[in-house]
Amino acid sequence: MKAISVLGSTGSIGTQTLEIAQECPEKFKVVALTAGKNFNLLVEQIKQHQPEVVAIAEQDDLTELHQRLKNLPDNEKLKSIPHLVGGTEGLNIAASWETAELVVTGIVGCAGLLPTLSAIKAGKDIALANKETLIAAGPVVLPELKVSGSRLFPADSEHSAIFQCLQGTPWATNARLSTGIPTPGLRNIQLTASGGAFRDWPAEKLKNATVKDATSHPNWSMGKKITVDSATLMNKGLEVIEAHYLFGLDYENIEIIIHPQSIIHSMIELADSSVLAQMGWPDMKLPILYAMSWPHRIQTQWKRLNLPEIGQLTFNNPDKSKYPCMELAYDAGRSSGTMPAVLNAANEEAVAQFLEEKIHFQNIPKVIESVCEIHKQDLMSNPQLNDVLEVDNWARREVKTYVQRNPHTIINSTFKG
Ligand code: NDP
Repeated sequence: MKAISVLGSTGSIGTQTLEIAQECPEKFKVVALTAGKNFNLLVEQIKQHQPEVVAIAEQDDLTELHQRLKNLPDNEKLKSIPHLVGGTEGLNIAASWETAELVVTGIVGCAGLLPTLSAIKAGKDIALANKETLIAAGPVVLPELKVSGSRLFPADSEHSAIFQCLQGTPWATNARLSTGIPTPGLRNIQLTASGGAFRDWPAEKLKNATVKDATSHPNWSMGKKITVDSATLMNKGLEVIEAHYLFGLDYENIEIIIHPQSIIHSMIELADSSVLAQMGWPDMKLPILYAMSWPHRIQTQWKRLNLPEIGQLTFNNPDKSKYPCMELAYDAGRSSGTMPAVLNAANEEAVAQFLEEKIHFQNIPKVIESVCEIHKQDLMSNPQLNDVLEVDNWARREVKTYVQRNPHTIINSTFKG
């Protein structure tokens, strides 16, 4: 039985993790939950899993959560109310909770960085979904992993696929993972991308893209931010940086391939030109489960892959002019230091502005590019945690300033119509 903490339990990753725990009660016990604002769901999760500790993002919301748990009807009363904590400190307490062995990081965005670092410092194993942690703070996170001995298991489907393929190679020991050292014998990584919501749209039509269009993913059911990231292909760009930190390959050896069926979740090419791929239906529960159960394979009743049912697997190269975010991510990764943190924060803020209908879809890459350009003169090559947090804040402010200064170029007249 493995004791797990679920950070971001009310989100897409969090709820799927809890479904796994529910399906495998003899394998996993949930000891800690964290959430942002969705108290209705959080209370249901607390009733279901009876965790030891629960953290919420805002300290000020603690009284409300406590009241809700205290006032449950008699037939739903908890045996005991869990330890309740709030704010940054509270999230850190839940992330490093003593009895937890593995922490699933499902908080969205850079808000996941500090709790993930707390879990690492406490020596916990990490099932890493929150890619922003590694992207923004790779130079801080990797040394912490070495010091604490904490192990990072990728829960992102592409990185899980690479990790799973590596299990079939003689060099693959878990100790290699996330050291940032090149994996011997690994020549190339091919990250597959569905192409997101706009893969079948001609580039000219993107000027009419609405929030509803961008948040309707053809293959995967995910949170809003990552669904927009899929539509811009920034998600794949961020995954390139994540793969660089996890598997130690240079950027020219990490490729992106459009694979609309999302059946192959990524591939590796080895020194002898052999290519290994991992396949499955597009369902995040599989990579989450593997990150939770490595090195074991747990028997499930999930739908089994049927290739004749799919018929065809197709592949093509991404259109760089249609997806400028991809190149921005490669550039930021190559610049390294604080640049990926700036890219990540600028993207988070630009996507938030898009979701609030303040900027047009096609302005997302323009805003990010402008902010990264300004940062070039202040780039720090070997940042500490404070530097990362500082540039993260700066980049978010800079996006807001850019949006305020450029209302005519930002809000496209066709946007809401
Ligand atoms: P969701 O938006 O669905 O969920 C986000 C979770 O984070 C919710 O529990 C939310 O709480 C919580 N949260 C939001 N803001 C804060 C904050 N400031 N402090 C603490 N908690 C907060 O996101 P996803 O599950 O889609 O994504 C989570 C992470 O996993 C992202 O980094 C994403 O890139 C990565 N990922 C997701 C995949 C997917 O299939 N969804 C696939 C691969 C990676 P509440 O809802 O209660 O406000």
